Amino acid sequence: MRWSNALIPTLKETPADAVAPSHVLLLRAGMIRQLGAGTYTYMPLGLRVLHKAIRIIREEMDAAGALEVLMPALQPVELWKESGRFEAYGDLLMKLTISGGHHMALGPTHEEVITDLVRDLVRSYKQLPITLYQIQTKFRDEPRPRFGIVRTREFVMKDAYSIDADLGQLNTSYDKMYEAYCRIFDRCGVPYVIVEAESGPIGGDSSHEFMVPCSTGEDTVIFCEKCGYAANQERAEVGQTEATSPTPDAHAPAHESVATPGKKTIREVCEFLGVAESTSAKLLVYLADGQPAAALLRGDHELNEAKFRRALGVSTVVPADAPTIEKATGAPMGFLGPVGIKIPMVIDRAIAAMPTVVVGGNAVDVHLKGVVPGRDFPLDRLHDLRNAEAGDPCPRCGSTLEVKSGLEIGHVFKLGTKYSKAMGARYLDEKGTETEIIMGCYGIGVNRIVAAAVEAAHDANGIIWPFSIAPYHVLVVPLQLQNAAVMERTSAIESALTAAGLDVLVDDRDQRPGFKFKDADLIGVPLRVVIGERGLKDGQIEIKWRHEESGLAVASDTAASAILAQVEAHRRKHDDWCADRRMGRSVPRAT
Ligand SMILES: [Zn+2]
Repeated sequence: MRWSNALIPTLKETPADAVAPSHVLLLRAGMIRQLGAGTYTYMPLGLRVLHKAIRIIREEMDAAGALEVLMPALQPVELWKESGRFEAYGDLLMKLTISGGHHMALGPTHEEVITDLVRDLVRSYKQLPITLYQIQTKFRDEPRPRFGIVRTREFVMKDAYSIDADLGQLNTSYDKMYEAYCRIFDRCGVPYVIVEAESGPIGGDSSHEFMVPCSTGEDTVIFCEKCGYAANQERAEVGQTEATSPTPDAHAPAHESVATPGKKTIREVCEFLGVAESTSAKLLVYLADGQPAAALLRGDHELNEAKFRRALGVSTVVPADAPTIEKATGAPMGFLGPVGIKIPMVIDRAIAAMPTVVVGGNAVDVHLKGVVPGRDFPLDRLHDLRNAEAGDPCPRCGSTLEVKSGLEIGHVFKLGTKYSKAMGARYLDEKGTETEIIMGCYGIGVNRIVAAAVEAAHDANGIIWPFSIAPYHVLVVPLQLQNAAVMERTSAIESALTAAGLDVLVDDRDQRPGFKFKDADLIGVPLRVVIGERGLKDGQIEIKWRHEESGLAVASDTAASAILAQVEAHRRKHDDWCADRRMGRSVPRAT
């Protein structure tokens, strides 16, 4: 392909409203153009990237035994009412009325449509398991589209659904999809982590998110570089370096009351007493399934409500208001403490490692100093209750946890019988009994693969595409278009590389080298080949990888084979990278 025919509208200036690197660079590289809020046109280069990601997805889904279908984007809202999600989805569901007065929705996802399909189709256990997938445009009425193609009102999604007879089949289907997702993202060259997400109706290991740590992410990922542990904030555990069964110091002096007039927050109290917040503890009172319960944490730590809820074994926890707290504990808000408290209390493990703490005195304007955990209040209900922070020990290997924002590119989820129950999708099992089918759903945001690849690899000059999804593999830059030898060599190399299966772009524009190199860096083609008059005289041309600082000279008459050898070595390196990643990866075990 010649640049002059390729329609690559690169921009010199950074578009005003673009902040995320992927948004800025995809616009500047002429890969996407905005139509309206949350709607983008893929220009030829951008579409080539999207199509390459789609090809990889399709190959891996097919290899995993999933069958491709194409369902309508236009869905009757009755199906959404049947599943009970019409209300839950609310305004995010794009609704419209079509001729005949029918109320329809533009599908943001297809659980309802697939359940409707299989309740007609599946009669017997002999037909199961099946996994169906599609690659299709989805719609969500996002109130705030942002980050370019990351959060849009219209996007391309690969959604798959497994239809299984029992939990054993579901676990097998789930593991197959999980493995396929690993291969897909490995092949696409995006550095992802797999995060245990909130467990669904099946419980346990039933949902994983595939996240790319980057500045543009909308979620928080806590991960360990060393062992590959990763979780979202809700589930991330804090490793134990702190003492778990301490022996309280029997000779420590008794605690004393101190007057803290009007000092209610931890910060105020600690400043007033001249102690660090990490030497204090705070007692937080919640209503757990309607009953008062307390959590005790170090003053500078943050309560993780999901962990608190799990520790108590309840389904909801809501912060209690001041009157409720006073009524339940007899103590005023702001001066709560663990000594002599009458409501159930769970304690974060970090408290057990503190020799003494400053706590509220359960009376107005009173705090207690020199309180010994385990002596002055019991340490019988120790749990991991706090939010993991950067620098905390990894729960798996003890190394240091890192916190980054993460961009979700895929999600696998065991649905169980949620939809089959609501919509009456049943089959006859071996004994002839009507049984609800069990489902799993598996999504990939295809546009987000494109965005994530840019987020993960770019520099000040532009994009650095992974080889597998780059719009072109090689950019050939002839420097003197009027020089017959230069143009002859250009054509020869283009033909040889194309014949070897590479996608080649030739910058045939009559522009200064500096101008062409700038654009080359911006669009991020992995390998650049520069052919110039002077080099040819010395029998040389220059090749340079986009991700490397400097290029190297190769003999001009054997340049094509030198380039192919470079490409081969690069591919092998990528395969090794994938293999390394897989060694350190945890694969979910069938439960
Ligand atoms: Zn670790």
